[in-house]
Amino acid sequence: WSSRDFSWTKELEVNNKKVFGNHSFRPNQREVINATMSGCDVFVLMPTGGGKSLTYQLPALINPGITLVISPLVSLIQDQIMHLLQANIPAAYLSANLEWAEQQEILRELNSDYCKYKLLYVTPEKVARSDVLLRQLESLHGRELLSRIVIDEAHCVSQWGHDFRPDYQGLGVLKQKFPNTPVLALTATATASVKEDVVQALGLVNCVVFRQSFNRPNLWYSVVPKTKKCLEDIDKFIRENHFDECGIIYCLSRMDCEKVAEKLQECGHKCAFYHGSMDPDQRAHVQRQWSKDEINIICATVAFGMGINKPDVRFVIHHSLPKSVEGYHQECGRAGRDGQRSSCVLYYSYSDYIRVKHMLSVGAVEQSNMTSGYSRFNATNSGRLLETNTENLLRMVSYCENDVDCRRLIQLVHFGEKFDSSNCHKTCDNCVKITSFVEKDVTEIAKQLVELVKLTGQKVSASHILEVYRGSLSQMVKKHRHETVRLHGAGKHLAKGEASRILHHLVVEDFIAEVVKKSDFYGSVSSVLKVNEQKVRNMLFGGQRIILRFPSSVKASKPGKCDS
Ligand code: ADP
Ligand code: ZN
Repeated sequence: WSSRDFSWTKELEVNNKKVFGNHSFRPNQREVINATMSGCDVFVLMPTGGGKSLTYQLPALINPGITLVISPLVSLIQDQIMHLLQANIPAAYLSANLEWAEQQEILRELNSDYCKYKLLYVTPEKVARSDVLLRQLESLHGRELLSRIVIDEAHCVSQWGHDFRPDYQGLGVLKQKFPNTPVLALTATATASVKEDVVQALGLVNCVVFRQSFNRPNLWYSVVPKTKKCLEDIDKFIRENHFDECGIIYCLSRMDCEKVAEKLQECGHKCAFYHGSMDPDQRAHVQRQWSKDEINIICATVAFGMGINKPDVRFVIHHSLPKSVEGYHQECGRAGRDGQRSSCVLYYSYSDYIRVKHMLSVGAVEQSNMTSGYSRFNATNSGRLLETNTENLLRMVSYCENDVDCRRLIQLVHFGEKFDSSNCHKTCDNCVKITSFVEKDVTEIAKQLVELVKLTGQKVSASHILEVYRGSLSQMVKKHRHETVRLHGAGKHLAKGEASRILHHLVVEDFIAEVVKKSDFYGSVSSVLKVNEQKVRNMLFGGQRIILRFPSSVKASKPGKCDS
């Protein structure tokens, strides 16, 4: 695809410079353009900031007719259209929030034989819900004016991805209605299984796939234990490393956004919050202030960021646990788009995991109510969706708990990429910290922890199990008379954090299930451990070993003698 002699090569070069002001192409841009202009269906995985828009805007300019672009958010669409109009490329969008008269004007233009638009943007719900739009597309197609269909943020099609949007599921109809119109699917995030799901749902045929490394060498990754002093820690971190620079702080809830913003304002940072319950004008105002550097820091839910085009974001902080490795990678990807060194710091506490998990189960119930009208999505699917989401979350927990492996390596392995961690060049906390490590067999400790869960009646939390294992005589332990349990104190010789890493590994690997016991949304959430008998059988009786990596400075681990 990189051959220079396509009939349009010259025209591409000229327009790339003249209209878009670019001196060259970025990796894969030329290849993607050649493939889609050859009439193939194309699937593109390109990291945020890689330059996906050009791969359809340039062909749209050169090919006769109109390029239909499906994009998830109106704010994103408006931003794109503003840029296109500035470059004198006629473009329009159709959406429910347009005035009726405006909408009619656009439709009239689309119906004219000399329709001026090169690009027409719509949201997926428009495709799913508007017969007017579908008829309009049929008419364009009939007049040979529908030149290409672009699906932006294509991972939203997949239920197994991290940002499923039910309306994206309806987009398969486009390929059914217009089988000969090439489709270009774009995303900055997809694992192999999500990619398969997207290709299938959209009905792409013999599709050409371009994928690029997801490694972002200029981003520095670290995970920091989240304590009660978390906000002071964040203030200090920004002050020492990024004072007066621009950044995003991702928070779990709307309340958290406001709380964090308030605290940082008190500390003298130019800071605002951004979340879903603000009205659209307020949100747009905050985003504008941030774009113009009138404020430096935005404390936001994940609603903020898609399509953000600010090149000089110097840090992305996660105040709480992200819901998936994919989501995390994408959120971090908003930092350092100009290629300059930028920081990604995640504040992690295990209790956030319980909180997020609870939010997911509430969300799954809502999701199944909301989407029951879709044929590919029903109650059973919603159960599976919760399972997938929980799995995604556990991958994220194990990312945080891992204090040995290169952060880049873990992320890239997740995307199915090979990576040699020596290429990290000590730009993640684990690579900085660890010069060498050893692999250790922790099966005997794992067996003791499983047994301890059973001995305490499968009705206490992970932290309680760890207390008992380490031999604590706290009030809680005494209240349940757990100081008398066999194995009380069996793990007291272990290095700090070691038993907890092993226990969490058992939860992540599903040997032990963590069941939410009682909760209210912002208040206390507690959970208890239950043994997954089927899974532990293999470890207890089938000779399955549990191997973990440890920094080579940690002493060898053998389970202690039990004082029973
Ligand atoms: P993505 O959608 O992949 O996140 P964009 O399409 O928004 O990325 O592009 C990111 C930025 O890179 C934009 O500011 C765009 O103008 C710029 N850009 C894209 N292609 C090129 C290129 N070939 N040369 C220079 N800048 C480019
Ligand atoms: Zn590393």
